[in-house]
Amino acid sequence: MDTGASLAAIEEEARQAIAAAPSLAALADVRARFLGKKGSVSSVLRGIGALAPEERSRVGEAANASKERIEGFVRERRETLERAAQDHALAARRLDVSLPGIRPPQGHLHPITRVERDIERFFAGLGFSVEEGPEVETEWNNFEALGIPPDHPARDMQATFFTEGGHVLRTHTSPVQIRAMSGRQPPFRFIAPGRVYRNDRSPRHSPMFHQVEGFMVDENVSFAHLKGILYAFQRHMMGAEVELRFRASYFPFTEPSAELDYRCLLCRGAGCATCSQSGWIEAGGCGMIHPSVLANCGLDPERWQGFAFGMTLDRAAMLRWGIPNIHLLFEGDLRVLEQI
Ligand SMILES: [Zn+2]
Repeated sequence: MDTGASLAAIEEEARQAIAAAPSLAALADVRARFLGKKGSVSSVLRGIGALAPEERSRVGEAANASKERIEGFVRERRETLERAAQDHALAARRLDVSLPGIRPPQGHLHPITRVERDIERFFAGLGFSVEEGPEVETEWNNFEALGIPPDHPARDMQATFFTEGGHVLRTHTSPVQIRAMSGRQPPFRFIAPGRVYRNDRSPRHSPMFHQVEGFMVDENVSFAHLKGILYAFQRHMMGAEVELRFRASYFPFTEPSAELDYRCLLCRGAGCATCSQSGWIEAGGCGMIHPSVLANCGLDPERWQGFAFGMTLDRAAMLRWGIPNIHLLFEGDLRVLEQI
């Protein structure tokens, strides 16, 4: 047999089979068929022993050269197949930038925060700055300095949460008045928004709710300034046609004191369920800061006067978005919050 010719035939057959191998697994089979222990080239090498001695090295060299060339075909084909597999995987993952995007869900500020920021912006326009205080207060700041001694009935109206150290979860934002005025010199123009706590729960009351306090102290501040500012504020919140009513009232820390009502926007004063048939809805309390409160802050009440007002932020949010139950604001239910 002419081993040279048969090696050339084996090599050509291997080249074609390798080029036709459709996958890496098929390529491994083809390689074994020609180069494996029982492969065609190995058989040629095994047959060397039967050859004449002078033929052996020539055939051996030729067989090894064939083997190398076939390995070269296998390597080339493997690279081609691997590149194709990689391209295919990349194509499957390719991003089509011309497709419309998937919009990620977007949150928004809580309704209370929106009302609070709106109020802050309005009062900033009138030269008021924002003052804050802690939610755990001393009894002095929350009660005594505001004219509510331990046996005062106003404490019952603000039935509240006490801590073991004799502190109290503040029942209103008014203690911020004491903090803001003590050790400072007027003129003052502050608003103080924040969380407050009372032992109170009903569809319209939550044990935790939000108030905003506003106060102004100077040498010539009168009730007329208070009315002017509250009118401007309620027009901003409720619209230009809002009608207000000041009703004589009592707070231990203001004198004179008033409740501020606005005419019901739903029935225009005729009476409906929302206004409990009265035609009016409470907007908050206000009055001239009591001289003893000024004195408790180290200010001379003969020289300085001021007004203060307070209202519930939560009620403003409930009105603005028609939320019937205050608890819906704090339960974190996205079905409610996403509607706002
Ligand atoms: Zn009404």
